Amino acid sequence: MESTAFRSGLLALNYHRIGESANNLFDDGVFSARPEDFEAQVTYLRRHFRLLNLRELLEISHNGFQFSECCALITFDDGYSDNFELAYPILRKHGISAVFFVPTDYIENPHLPWWDHIAYVLKKTQRPTLSLKTNPPVVINLTKTSRQNAIFQILRVFKSASKANEEGFLSQLEEAAEVQVDRAALGRELFMSWSNLDQMVETGMSVGSHTHTHQIMAQLTEVDQRRELGLSRELLEGRLKTSVLSISYPVGGPDKFTATTKRLCGDLGYKVGFSFYGGINRTGQTDPFDIKRIGIDITDSPFLSRTRMVFTTAFGKTF
Ligand SMILES: [Zn+2]
Repeated sequence: MESTAFRSGLLALNYHRIGESANNLFDDGVFSARPEDFEAQVTYLRRHFRLLNLRELLEISHNGFQFSECCALITFDDGYSDNFELAYPILRKHGISAVFFVPTDYIENPHLPWWDHIAYVLKKTQRPTLSLKTNPPVVINLTKTSRQNAIFQILRVFKSASKANEEGFLSQLEEAAEVQVDRAALGRELFMSWSNLDQMVETGMSVGSHTHTHQIMAQLTEVDQRRELGLSRELLEGRLKTSVLSISYPVGGPDKFTATTKRLCGDLGYKVGFSFYGGINRTGQTDPFDIKRIGIDITDSPFLSRTRMVFTTAFGKTF
């Protein structure tokens, strides 16, 4: 399908990690593409879309999001160091600017996020069974269940457990698995540094906020949301000497941020906010604080990722 068959609009893509998920020590679920697949996707996008940078998108936003053609924007969430090591050189080679949304606390005080922490413990453990005194209790026979399945189960238990006892859950898991985790050392390896971000900004990339500590905005009080949104912007602008006008909401589903989140973002000086539940952004129908993005998944074949882009652009539906 050629681009002339598309209706005008903005296809915003979202990536997390770039790299080979096999044999990595952390959560396979956050890998979006191998470097060669990412490059093929960039090449495809260049051929069929007008690839925007953030400044161009902000200009279009002043004009009520009047897209005169099929535009695309590449974004990354979470600030993993492979974004700098693997994605950034590919983007530079093709002369493309992307937006990197980082949770400032991950850069300021690197530590493993809970999903990578859980995956790391499960991948390292030598124990044949894992018993957690959760409610209900969890017992996993690791000789009969694949590691991937065990990780999936524990991630699900963690997500449904009380946020108040996040640390308690992770230390109980470490104890049961007999695996000690140096969260700070592993975090430094896994996330970008301020100097990585500095270098990217100096060479035409954009950095946006992904809040300070990556909590789900809809679950916080207005005071806490304001702190997360404001502190993150303040730190990014102070450290990178650039204006920070964009944000992506952690997790980003329609129930993960609220009208209050969007209002606070506007009050604090952000101009655009990105969600993460699929869809296309059409002329005149785009909410500046709910710009839709589609996720690219490492399990997609090159054909499937292209088809995803084409269908989303042509019909506004994500699959
Ligand atoms: Zn995120």
